[in-house]
Amino acid sequence: MKIICIGRNYSEHAKELHNPVPSEPVFFMKPDTALLRNNAPFFYPSFSKDVHHEVELVVRINKVGRSIGEKFASRYYSEVGLGVDFTARDVQQRCKEKGLPWEIAKAFDFSAPLSSQFLPLSEFDSVANIPFSLVKNGEVVQQGSTSEMIFSVDQIIAYVSKFVTLKIGDLIYTGTPSGVGSVAIGDRLQGFIGNKQMFDFEVK
Ligand code: MG
Repeated sequence: MKIICIGRNYSEHAKELHNPVPSEPVFFMKPDTALLRNNAPFFYPSFSKDVHHEVELVVRINKVGRSIGEKFASRYYSEVGLGVDFTARDVQQRCKEKGLPWEIAKAFDFSAPLSSQFLPLSEFDSVANIPFSLVKNGEVVQQGSTSEMIFSVDQIIAYVSKFVTLKIGDLIYTGTPSGVGSVAIGDRLQGFIGNKQMFDFEVK
């Protein structure tokens, strides 16, 4: 199982990081050791002083496919969950300045909290209109909707599968809306799809 993460998929977030809005999807991967489930606490890593939260809608692949056409992409998923793409922003910045890959800022252990529950797409009008949010210590810090994505879920699947075969159980973190920010030890993070709480965990 692999975790594929889409970068810069919401223009307001690309702007807040002073990145250009991409003309093609940007993706990177996290290993399965990045997963953090069942509302387990996130232990702040020793190698960073600036870990950011990025709340993201997560699509789970339910069929093997490669070079999937965009118009067939919706056959490859039927459920959505919610996750956090934790990012060691200071480490990422240093990597970017040196022109190096930013794996160590993104793929570290437990950097991908994930909801235990996935919701069937039949609960929504469309995968392109799902509201979600992140609450930190009782305050909404990120709020978005898949309607604001630059690249749709189907476009993402078509693009990624040109390069990498998708397998059953693979997860796609589909990008974060604006409002990313630091977390600190003692913070409580709660994620919601619509009004439904999907995760609730602490930073320790
Ligand atoms: Mg992200």
